[in-house]
This record gives sequence, C-alpha cells and structure tokens, in this order.
Amino acid sequence: MTKHYDYIAIGGGSGGIASINRAASYGKKCAIIEANQLGGTCVNLGCVPKKVMWYGAQVAEAIHKYAPDYGFDVEFKGFDFQKLVQSRQQYIENIHRSYDNNLAKNGVEVIKGFAKFVDTNTVEVNGELITADHILIATGGHPIQPNIKGAEYGIDSDGFFALNHLPKRVAIVGAGYIAVEIAGVLNSLGAEVHLYVRKHSPLRAFDHTIVETLLIEMEQDGIHLHTNTAINEVNKNDDDSLNLSTNSGGEDCIDTVDCLIWAIGRAPSTDNINLQVTEVATTETGKIKVDEFQNTNIDNIYAVGDIIENSVDLTPVAIAAGRRLSERLFNNKPNEHLDYTLIPTVIFTHPAIGTIGLSEIDAIERYGKDNIKCYKSSFTSMYSAVTQHRQKCTMKLVCLGDDEKVIGLHGIGFGVDEMIQGFAVAIKMGATKADFDNTVAIHPTGSEEFVTMR
Ligand code: FAD
Ligand code: NDP
Repeated sequence: MTKHYDYIAIGGGSGGIASINRAASYGKKCAIIEANQLGGTCVNLGCVPKKVMWYGAQVAEAIHKYAPDYGFDVEFKGFDFQKLVQSRQQYIENIHRSYDNNLAKNGVEVIKGFAKFVDTNTVEVNGELITADHILIATGGHPIQPNIKGAEYGIDSDGFFALNHLPKRVAIVGAGYIAVEIAGVLNSLGAEVHLYVRKHSPLRAFDHTIVETLLIEMEQDGIHLHTNTAINEVNKNDDDSLNLSTNSGGEDCIDTVDCLIWAIGRAPSTDNINLQVTEVATTETGKIKVDEFQNTNIDNIYAVGDIIENSVDLTPVAIAAGRRLSERLFNNKPNEHLDYTLIPTVIFTHPAIGTIGLSEIDAIERYGKDNIKCYKSSFTSMYSAVTQHRQKCTMKLVCLGDDEKVIGLHGIGFGVDEMIQGFAVAIKMGATKADFDNTVAIHPTGSEEFVTMR
C-alpha cells in the first residue's frame, strides 16, 4: 500500500530534520527517510564528534603546555583514546535520543532505509512506495579519495571517527577545514603528524594574515607541514605501515607512516537515488541546482544543505535553509528564504580561527585597493602570557569606503571560536568601524581587541 504525506525529506541530517520538524509544527503530515543514523554527517561523522575530539585535545594542551606554569604539578599517567571515543559516542547516543523524541513529539514519521525516486512525487524505500505533495532532497555528501595506486590503504574523515587507538605517525592529505582540524587534534593528543598540501599553503581561501599565524602555531606545536607536495602512490608494508611516494618540487621521496587520512573534499550523495527519473537538474559533479528559494527546476522538489550547487557546507546553513523553506511552504511566508551572504564560520584548529566576510585580498579584488582599509592586531593571548608556551592571537578588520563599513572580520587565537557569533550580528546589521569603536571594551579579554584597533 502506498503511504501519502504532505511533505517528506530524503536524508535525516541537519537540513532534513530542521525542515521536516518545522513543517510538522504547522500540522503537516510529514516523514523523514534516513538510510543511516539520524543527525547525518554533523552529529555522527562531523561537527559533533570532531568538537569532542577538539575539546579532548584542548585538555591535553592544558595538561602538557599550560598546567606547570600555572603551578600544577601534574603527574601524567597516560591517555586512554578509547575512553575519549566512548564518551564521545555516548554523547552522540544522547543526541539520537533527543532527535527521536522531538520528531515523535512533532508527529513526524521516521522511515529507516535508502530512498530512491520512482517519479516526481514518489520514492521507494525498502520496497514500499511513498508519495508526497512536496519532497525535500537533503542527502548531503561523503568524503572522496584520490584516484591513485594504493589510495584504499588510506582512511577518510569517516575512518578517522572509527579509529580506536591513537596512530603513532599520521599523514593527512588535504588543505581544507577537515585536514587542518584533524591534524591539530591528533598532534595535540600525541601523534606525529604530517600534513601534506599540494599547493603553497592550507586554507588558501581564508585571510592570509590569519593563515600565516596558524602556520607559525602549527610549526611551534610540531606539526610537519609538507607544502607543494603531491602523494603519487601508496604501498603497504608487511608491518601494516604505509609508504607514501611523494613529489615535492620535482624531488621524489618515500615517507613511512602508520595511518594515512585523505581530507581532499567531499562529493554530493545524489548518484544512487535514481534522480534521473525526476529530471531534476544537477551540475556535472551531481550537485542539485536550486534557486534562492531552494526550488529545483521541478515543481514541489526542493533541496537544501551540502547537496546544492555552490553550497556553504555548514550545519547551521543547512538548518537555516531547511527551516525557511518550511516557513515559506507551510506558514504562508512567500518570500522567506536564506540570505547566503556574510555567513560566519569557525575552523577548530589550535588555536581556533573565526571569520566572517571578505578576506583582505578578496576585498581589494572586489572594491579596489583605495577603497579598503585594514586594521590588524597581533598579541600573545593572556592565557599563555604567563606560561613558557606562548600562543599568538591575530585579528583583522577589513573596512570599505569612507564610512569604513566592516566587510570582513577575521581572528585566530584563544577563545576566538566563541567570539565570532556576536560580531557576526553587528556585521550583518552593517556595522562600521566607528560603531565598533563606540562599543566599550570588555577587559581583560581577547575580543576587546576588535573594538580598540587603531
Ligand atoms: P547531512 O548532514 O550529510 O545529512 C544527509 C543525510 O542523508 C545522511 O544522514 C545520509 O545518511 C542521508 N541519506 C543520503 N542519501 C540517502 C537516501 N537516498 N535515502 C535516505 N537517506 C539518505 N559544519 C559546521 O557547521 N561546523 C562544524 O564544525 C563542522 N564540522 C564538520 C566536520 C567534518 C569531519 C565534516 C565531514 C563536516 C563538518 N561540518 C561542519 C559540515 C556539516 O556536517 C554539513 O554541512 C552538514 O551536516 C550538512 O547537512 P545536510 O543536511 O546537507 O547533510
Ligand atoms: P574542502 O573542500 O574544504 O577542502 C579540501 C581541499 O583539499 C581542497 O580545497 C584542496 O585545496 C585540497 N585538495 C583537493 N584535492 C586534492 C588532492 N587530490 N590532493 C591534495 N589536496 C587536495 O573539503 P573538506 O573535506 O576539508 O571539508 C568539506 C567541507 O565541510 C568544508 O568546506 C566545510 O564547509 C565543511 N566543514 C566545516 C567545518 C567547520 O565548520 N569547522 C569542519 C570540517 C568541514 P587546494 O586546492 O588548496 O590544494
């Protein structure tokens, strides 16, 4: 028998759950179809387990780098990686339970299984047909591996979260968020970390001043950064260690590690869902084309989150787009949609990077050098000012025109991860440098630098 709903979401991750809960709150008959675990990438293989690992790394840093100069004579007896993983997974179980409860409270039916399109109003799950007036595609993405000999000996970010011991020597390949975040975590927890980037620097799209500070901190922390280095082949040794054949500036080399992690990007999960029967338009890489209202080219089929063309792959973006879509469709708000400009983001490196808006270089490219003024500040974080191990903070404001509208705010340093959200509100409202200056500082904090720069 075919079941019919007002609205279904394919994919129970950040975007799908947010959208379906909002629709159900307006009395719509809704179902969410999830092939794996509710919560999707963020909860199971992304933000949440990553942040727990990052907190674990922060504890390690506090013990090893800072405790002695704060007067603590800590006797370090060891680190139990499995205990950290166990605590992390317990927390994730709690989140699953809270999703189950909320969906049930809202009357959303959860259908476990892999959905495939049958036509524009029908999907098939576990051999059953489900029809809906409106269908949301929120299937997210998955990590990719390079097409080289021996690539399969490496793991990816999913494999990182499946580790049950701390590898001794690790190679991480990639230059984006995931590569630098995993590199920092494993290094702080005690692994020997080698980060391979194929170009001159990781995080090339971010403000160069901030990335320069990150590179200084990485070096101080003992991360081995291999720039302009490609991995051409991977071979496994009898003792399970891996030989990486690398090429750096024309020079061939073999590096041996115990664990190889690919962090070279993600691909959209649209390949197996029989999308072709719907004629929903996609890009060459399989991302779904949508307009500013999350409409695909086919009536009543929508897409949000990592799956869409030009996506900003962040959980709050998927959530915000999903909720606004349901407000538009089911709460009589015909113009409701997400504004994708000025989205703040944090990279959980050591120390963390927080950023919103244009980098200095992008701002100059867009508006011309004469129209851009930057304010910078670099200092030792107070947390580390009394310790042997010093950690830098660098901050930058990118301002436009005579009224110095703040169009970019970037920082790296202790506590920056928790600073950015409030500043993002001000910038989204169009704050100028004068508005920043008119705000009395909070002392002694790192964030006061953002309102006292000259
Ligand atoms: P997803 O959360 O990926 O959900 C898609 C769901 O669809 C999955 O559960 C999948 O199983 C399911 N699915 C796929 N196909 C089908 C099908 N045919 N039938 C049924 N179900 C299907 N973002 C942040 O904002 N902050 C962070 O700190 C952060 N850290 C990250 C760390 C890592 C390692 C990774 C990989 C990502 C991180 N992200 C972070 C990004 C964030 O996880 C994603 O942007 C977000 O999860 C996207 O949500 P989504 O709803 O589009 O897709
Ligand atoms: P990204 O696409 O951000 O970065 C991958 C980078 O790896 C590329 O930009 C490229 O950089 C490099 N690369 C690509 N192919 C190769 C190759 N064959 N060999 C070596 N290097 C290669 O992907 P991630 O997987 O890091 O992250 C995916 C997304 O998930 C992020 O963009 C982010 O939106 C989200 N995320 C968010 C987090 C957060 O909010 N804190 C944390 C983690 C993920 P280059 O061209 O410079 O070499």
